[in-house]
Amino acid sequence: MKRKDLDQNLQIKEAGDNQQVENQPGASEPSSAPPPGQKERRFRQTDLPAHFIERRKHPRISTEPPPPAAPPRLEDYASIIGRPELDEIRFLARHLRSKTVKMVNSTAVGGGVAEILNRLIPLMNELEIPTKWEVITGGNDFYEVTKGFHNALHGGEYNLTKTIQEIFMSYNEQNRQRMEFVEDLFVIHDPQPAGLVRSKSDTRGRWIWRCHIDLSNPHPGVWDFLKPMVEQYDAAIFSAPAFTRQLSIPQYLFYPSIDPLSEKNKELEESYINKVCDDFGIDRSRPVITQISRFDRLKDPVGVIEAYKLVKKYVDCQLVLAGGGATDDPEGAVVLQEVMDAAGDDPDVIILNLPPWSALEINALQRASTIIVQKSLKEGFGLTVTEGLWKEKPVVAGAVGGIPTQVIHKLTGVLVHSVEGCAYQIRYLLTHPEFAVQLGKNGKEHAKENFLITVNLKRWLLLFQIMLGMARPSKTI
Ligand code: UDP
Repeated sequence: MKRKDLDQNLQIKEAGDNQQVENQPGASEPSSAPPPGQKERRFRQTDLPAHFIERRKHPRISTEPPPPAAPPRLEDYASIIGRPELDEIRFLARHLRSKTVKMVNSTAVGGGVAEILNRLIPLMNELEIPTKWEVITGGNDFYEVTKGFHNALHGGEYNLTKTIQEIFMSYNEQNRQRMEFVEDLFVIHDPQPAGLVRSKSDTRGRWIWRCHIDLSNPHPGVWDFLKPMVEQYDAAIFSAPAFTRQLSIPQYLFYPSIDPLSEKNKELEESYINKVCDDFGIDRSRPVITQISRFDRLKDPVGVIEAYKLVKKYVDCQLVLAGGGATDDPEGAVVLQEVMDAAGDDPDVIILNLPPWSALEINALQRASTIIVQKSLKEGFGLTVTEGLWKEKPVVAGAVGGIPTQVIHKLTGVLVHSVEGCAYQIRYLLTHPEFAVQLGKNGKEHAKENFLITVNLKRWLLLFQIMLGMARPSKTI
């Protein structure tokens, strides 16, 4: 897609702090006080006000995970990517038939990695490449440490003590003793299980470290601790060129991906979208601004509320902040409380703490949104951005991590650097709907070309061939 494709008339001014767009077409006065009985729209899954529950027309969301939907077959993607692309995937997989793969990460639910593995692994198995997914286990002390590492690798302050190193290594060692390593290929995701590579010398397989986070500016102590482990692998994969470090092993670039046929991304009936909005107290007759994210400070949910408050002075809109805790994220509850406090008693800020089996509801919320926001301060790739692009939504997102790969400023979305910039861009899009529509169209095309699971699957097949000596390596694929 070319920048010139975009109608020049739709180009927007640079965002500036506190710039105002009063009198823009589409803008309206701020809302007056909510009607009686609507004061408590804001709620959490676990502590809905009693009168809110009474007002609800339907049960909101199941308290138990529903039975998993049958994963799509490769053939089902033909209508989206076309037959030649499918044939290419099948051709590449032929040589890998009966080669075995083990993928390991640190959580089965919540977060982007689990999201990708849930879809990728059934497709590999369908291609007759037997692929297993294992999740490491650990106590709260381990997850405290790995969360600290996560923040430190994104550049945060950290005090890496001997005890912390021992906690990290001892849980890696426990998992290593518990697991069997008999496959041809091992793919270890992110730093948490990186120490499993100590088993490499006992195996005949090839070991790949798949790093989903931005290592461009890591805490030096934490990176010095991890780097010798990483360099024992046969290759490392990063999500963007800027995320990489100097390493003695080959490095490859893989964009993460979404599955257009998953519950999270498939097309939905309008009636279902309306029902979800109804259940959650969202008024579809007014603009809906949504950020879907774990309650994590790096996702800046409080900054999103501040931006919304600036917009709300001029445009009557609602803010939906929907998230849930990944099982490897101990900070979630604290951040959720901060978010609740920042929202105060504004009934147009709807905070949803969703269970991990809410893919359909998240899909509906994204589709019901006028604008998708992802105002991260640090980010890996940002699958929520990909999901927004795929749904043809105008996306307003922080210019961090892998987001600029997805959001090409003013072409497939808009990038922001501050609360004020975020508020300005939201106001601009709310008052310039044709521009918003054009961004959405461009965004979908960009996602289709680069960030669908079928593109990702093809990359894995090529890399496996390289790792097993069936194809010539190159610096990046
Ligand atoms: N997600 C979810 N429930 C939530 C919050 C997020 O299912 O409550 C999903 C979201 O739709 C996306 C993924 O989790 O598919 C988050 O991936 P992303 O790369 O945006 O962020 P991460 O959580 O991995 O940092």
